[in-house]
Amino acid sequence: MKHFRYFIISLIAALLLTGPAQAQSNETTYTVQAGDTLSHIALKYNVSVTELAAYNGLANPNLILIGQQLSIPDASSAIAATAAPAQTYTIQSGDTLFQIASRFGLRVARLAEANGIANADLIEAGQVLTIPDAAQAIAPTSLPFPFESISLSETRIDQGRTLIVYVTLSSAADLSAQFEDRPVFLSGDGLNYWGIVGIHALSEVGVYSLVFRAALPDGSQSAVTQNVIVTAGPYGVETINVVPGREGLLDIDVIRAEMAQLNLIWEQVTPYKMWNGAFIYPVADARVTSSFGTRRSYGGGPVNGYHAGTDFGGLGNPIYAPAAGVVVLAEALNVRGNAVLIDHGMGLYSGYWHQSESVVHVGQQLAPGDLIGYIGDTGLVTGPHLHWEMRLGSIAVEPLQWVEDQIP
Ligand SMILES: [Zn+2]
Repeated sequence: MKHFRYFIISLIAALLLTGPAQAQSNETTYTVQAGDTLSHIALKYNVSVTELAAYNGLANPNLILIGQQLSIPDASSAIAATAAPAQTYTIQSGDTLFQIASRFGLRVARLAEANGIANADLIEAGQVLTIPDAAQAIAPTSLPFPFESISLSETRIDQGRTLIVYVTLSSAADLSAQFEDRPVFLSGDGLNYWGIVGIHALSEVGVYSLVFRAALPDGSQSAVTQNVIVTAGPYGVETINVVPGREGLLDIDVIRAEMAQLNLIWEQVTPYKMWNGAFIYPVADARVTSSFGTRRSYGGGPVNGYHAGTDFGGLGNPIYAPAAGVVVLAEALNVRGNAVLIDHGMGLYSGYWHQSESVVHVGQQLAPGDLIGYIGDTGLVTGPHLHWEMRLGSIAVEPLQWVEDQIP
């Protein structure tokens, strides 16, 4: 991982250049290990998280890196370890719990749990929320003009999830963003932007760069790099035994040709979103028979694939559109069987494979709850099921995140 090494080197260089600790005589250093958090390290050395973060010039305590050297303040001067002062946030009219959680780099479930909120839709303006952990928005003071704030839905994110970014500028500019070498799909009015990018389910775990570039009207440019830590998703392994007689569909040329056909569609980006709020399940009986991200071996061969969608059982059950969009493919495919693909805008697509029958046509506009077709067993299957897949560009992402969270 070239990028990872480069980042570690540049980060250590930055610490050497600017680290406050060089002049200290009797200091201790600690090398960050896998699984460490700043609060664990602080506890170990009996210093506060706030002090440790400040001592090492860390703008965001959630972003520490394996191998990073931290200077530990002299124990005699260290203040007694106390819980970091609890941060609070007063809910404003129009806020959603998801937006608030995103602003503080938290998952919505964590914020809800910390405040005893059972239903994320039932929050009121004026209500005061406790912000748990050492989570915080990225310090706006450290950003170059015209960047005013950058926040991410998660700064440590599991493989396969959708990352949401929010950027505020103090002066109108054209914003673009890249995660590694892929564009972030952005929407904004020149000052306030949000965007989405998928984390590949098989991404190597480690540190990745998210680069924001603002092009100002006078032709000047400004850029900010934010690091994102990709963590291992909770994915198991399964062996797939396809229906006898259909093994020919595992032929690599058949698989590649179909993938190429779909990639041509996934490369097209409709520059506005058509969905509104959280997605609904595409089936009434939403019991999952195979989860997204599971590592797969076909017919006992090597584990060389992963499950790019979420499966539901129920032969013959109706399949409904989970959100608004336009049908961009409705035809019989070799591997995916009777397939429908919906464009939701902003690079987001959802696919419905192995249907017994589809009732929609290309170009048809769908509202949430509109009938798409029926669960079947066409194509490369082990038995009847709906395979529901969501793509951001060509990257498959966990569909259930789109049901659980309101994005953006
Ligand atoms: Zn599936």
